[in-house]
Amino acid sequence: MTGISEYLAKIAEINRLDIKSPDGWIFHPGMLFQSTAKWWGDFGSRHAPHEGLDILFYRSADGFVDSIGPDTLVPLLADGYAVNICDDFLGRSLVVESRMQSTSRFRIFSVYAHLDIMPGIETGTRLAKGDMVATPASTAGKKSKIAPHLHLSVLEAPSSIPARELDWNLFGNPDSPVRLVNPAFL
Ligand SMILES: [Zn+2]
Repeated sequence: MTGISEYLAKIAEINRLDIKSPDGWIFHPGMLFQSTAKWWGDFGSRHAPHEGLDILFYRSADGFVDSIGPDTLVPLLADGYAVNICDDFLGRSLVVESRMQSTSRFRIFSVYAHLDIMPGIETGTRLAKGDMVATPASTAGKKSKIAPHLHLSVLEAPSSIPARELDWNLFGNPDSPVRLVNPAFL
C-alpha cells in the first residue's frame, strides 16, 4: 500500500465511511495534481495548475457516490511539526514539516488546506501520523460554490525560507523556489 492509499484508508477508517472498497475514492481529473481544470462551478480552467490533490468523493457500499463533509476528521499523513497556519481561499491551511525527511538545505512539508484547524494546534505543536488535526471548512456563503473538501499538498522548500512565509503566496507562485510533489507518488 502506498502512502497516499494508506492515508485515504485512514480517512475512511477514522470517519467510519461506508466506502465500497479501499480504492473506492473517486478523483475527477480536475482534482488531480497539476490539473488545469476545475471540477466545480463552470468546469472551466484553474488560474494555475493544481498544487496538490483534492479529496472529496467516494463510492459507498451500496454503489452511490457520497462525499466527505464539514464533520469529517482529517488525520495527519506523517509525523511532524506544525510550522505555520495560514488562510486560503476556502478556509485555513496547516503546514506541517516532516523533519525526518528534511535536510540542512531543503525542508519537506505537507499542507492540509481548506480546513478548520483543531483548537490547540499552533505553530510549534508536535504532531503524530494519524492525529486528527482538522475538519473541512464550510463553504456556505462563499462565492466559489465549491463543496467542503480536503486539499493535500506535499512540497520541498529551501531551508532559508522562514516558516511564517510558508503560505499560498509561495505555494501558488510558479516562480517560487518551492518544488511541488505529486501526493499520488508518496
Ligand atoms: Zn486543491
